Amino acid sequence: APSLLWFRDDLRLADNPALNALAETGAPIAALYVLDEDSPHIRPLGGASRWWLAQSLRTLKADLSHHGIPLILRQGPATRIVPEVASALGAATVAFNDRPGEAEGKLDRAITSRLNAEDRRVLRFCAHLLHPPGTVLGGSGRMPRTFSSFHRAALRERDLSPPLPAPKHLKGVARAPEGDTLESFALEPEKPDWAGGLRAAWNVGEAAARQRLSAFIDDGLKGYATGRDRPDLDHVSRLSPHLRFGEISPRQLLFAVRHAVDAGEVPGSDAAKFEAELYWREFSYHLLAEEPDIAQRNIQPNFDAFPWRECSGELKAWRRGLTGYPLVDAGMRQLWQTGWMHNRVRMVVASFLAKHLLIDWRGGEDWFWDTLVDADAANNAASWQWVAGSGLDAAPYFRIFNPVTQGEKFDPEGTYVHTFVPELKRLPAKLIHQPWTAPQDTLAAAGIRLGHTYPKPLVDHAAARDRALRAFEHVRKAA
Ligand code: FAD
Repeated sequence: APSLLWFRDDLRLADNPALNALAETGAPIAALYVLDEDSPHIRPLGGASRWWLAQSLRTLKADLSHHGIPLILRQGPATRIVPEVASALGAATVAFNDRPGEAEGKLDRAITSRLNAEDRRVLRFCAHLLHPPGTVLGGSGRMPRTFSSFHRAALRERDLSPPLPAPKHLKGVARAPEGDTLESFALEPEKPDWAGGLRAAWNVGEAAARQRLSAFIDDGLKGYATGRDRPDLDHVSRLSPHLRFGEISPRQLLFAVRHAVDAGEVPGSDAAKFEAELYWREFSYHLLAEEPDIAQRNIQPNFDAFPWRECSGELKAWRRGLTGYPLVDAGMRQLWQTGWMHNRVRMVVASFLAKHLLIDWRGGEDWFWDTLVDADAANNAASWQWVAGSGLDAAPYFRIFNPVTQGEKFDPEGTYVHTFVPELKRLPAKLIHQPWTAPQDTLAAAGIRLGHTYPKPLVDHAAARDRALRAFEHVRKAA
C-alpha cells in the first residue's frame, strides 16, 4: 500500500527522517503540502514568508518529480485535509516531521489519532532542531534559563548522529489524488508586485541552500567570530530563511562546519561561534515549547508595567527607514527590499524602537513577522524580547545602543549605509552616521538638505536615552 509524506517546515529531501523512514519500507510515496490558514491559533504567514514558500514549493515539486513522487498541494484545515488525502490515496502509513509550537503540536496529535483510528500507521520525527524540545533540562527539570547553561546542558545531552543523506531509491505512486494549484494558494504579490528585491536577493530551495552553505564555508566562516558583527562585510551565512523553511537542517550545518574544521579549512574558534549561534536558535525554540505565547506576553512579567508610548507616526517612520539615524534607516530599508537584515543591525533597530522611541516591542515583532523571509515563531519573538529586556537571559535594560557609535564601529566606511540609503552616498565616511553634525557647505556639496532629502533625527540620542532609563524605573519597581 502507498505511503503519504506530509511536508511542513522541512522542504528538503536530505536529512529528512520522515522521507528516509518511508523510503526504507519500499512502498510507493505521494507527498502532500497543506496551506492551513483555517485552523485556530496558527499564526498566518507574513507577506515575505508567503513569497518564499511559493518559490520553495515550486523547487520541491521539481525535485520530487525527478524521483517520480507527486507533490499534492491542498488548502484548508489540516485536520480535515490530511485524513482526506490519506484516505483517497489508500495510504497505509503517513509520515511527517514535527513542528514546534503548541497549536501545531495539538493539531498533529489530533491528526495522528484520527489516522490511527482509521488503521493508518503514523511515523513522526524531530528534524527542525538538534534536540527535541523538553530534552535539554537543568536541575529544576525545566530548560535552563540562561543561554550558557542551556548550551552546556545541550552538549552534555547526547552525541548527535550525522545527517541522513537523501535516499537513493525512491518510488512514487502511479496515481495521486487531485490537488490544488500553487497559483490558487495566491502566495505571491501581484499588484503591486513588491517582490522584485526579494527575487534579486535570493535563490530558494534545497539545492540553493546547499550552495549557500558551501559558499559560506569557503568564503565567510573564516573570520566569522568577529566578522559576523560587520554588516558591511560578507561574513554571515544568510542561511536563516533556508533553515526557517527546512530547506537545510541545523544538523547538516553543524556537521559541515565541524568537517571544515577537521579538514583544517577554518579555525575552530570561528566554527565554535557559528555553532553557538545555532544553539541560540535551539534556545529560542525550547523556550517557545515551554512558553507558547512569547510573541504576545512579556517573559519577565514586571515588564507588563512598562509605560509604552502610542505613536503611530514614529512607528511608521521606523518601518520606512526614515528615522534620521542612517544605520537604523539602512537596516529597515534592507529589510523592506531584501526580506532580511543583518543581525547586528536587527539589534540596533529593535533597541531604537523599544528604547529610543519607547514603542512596544510587539509592534516591531509584528513588522518583522510580515517582512522577514526568515520570520520564525521562536527566534523573532525571543530576540525582540531579548533586546527589549523582557526576555530570557536578556540584554539589561540599561544597555541602550547608540546608533551613531554602533555605525562607526561596525560600518566604519559607511558602505552598508551607502547601499541602502543612497541619498547619503556623497557624504564623507566620518560624517555618514551623523549627518546632522556636518557643516552646511559639506551637506550642500553632497546634495543633502536635512529635513527634505533625508530626515532630521526623530529623537535626540541623549534625551531619548534619559527618557528610556526613567521609563525602565517602572519595571524595576514592579519587580
Ligand atoms: P548566521 O550568523 O550565519 O547564523 C547561522 C544561523 O544561526 C542563523 O541562520 C540562525 O538560525 C542562527 N542564529 C544566528 N544568530 C542568531 C541569534 N541571535 N538568535 C537566534 N538564532 C541565531 N532569526 C531568525 O531566524 N528569524 C527571525 O525571525 C529573527 N528575528 C530576529 C529579530 C531580532 C530583533 C533580532 C535581534 C534577531 C532576530 N533573529 C531572527 C536572529 C538573527 O538576527 C538571525 O538568525 C540572523 O541574522 C540570520 O542571518 P544568518 O543566517 O546569516 O546568521
